[in-house]
Amino acid sequence: MLTWKEVINFAVNGNPTPDKRVEKTDTEWRKQLTPEQFRIARQKGTERPHSGALCTIHDAGKYNCICCNAPLFDSTIKFSSGTGWPSFTQPIKENAIKYEKDTAFGMVRVEVMCNICDAHLGHVFPDGPEPSGLRYCINSESMQLEKEVVNE
Ligand SMILES: [Zn+2]
Repeated sequence: MLTWKEVINFAVNGNPTPDKRVEKTDTEWRKQLTPEQFRIARQKGTERPHSGALCTIHDAGKYNCICCNAPLFDSTIKFSSGTGWPSFTQPIKENAIKYEKDTAFGMVRVEVMCNICDAHLGHVFPDGPEPSGLRYCINSESMQLEKEVVNE
């Protein structure tokens, strides 16, 4: 399980190696994304709290990157943080997420991105629930839910 200490270590000393890389130009991303998805995922924007479609959804499934469809989080690690953004306590696997120190707006925060295509996802904070103590605060617009198929 990832802890805050390891997150800081990734942000300062380098990130885990992704399984693969997806790199496209802004023109290519614009063709595939809505203007709001492009603003958030490719230009480090933030959606208004409580506006995101995935905020109050707790269906079983995987949360994939809106840009490259790589799995980032899943419903078993999602929790209701009350912040107005989808919140998770862990990534789906250690090398799914990339961390960078973000000093915008006079704050020091840790930005989280897709490790495969560098899509901006949100930020991670050390005030989440035990046992990891992590709170990944993620924009709905940066993800798409791939619902679990239940065979009856
Ligand atoms: Zn991606």
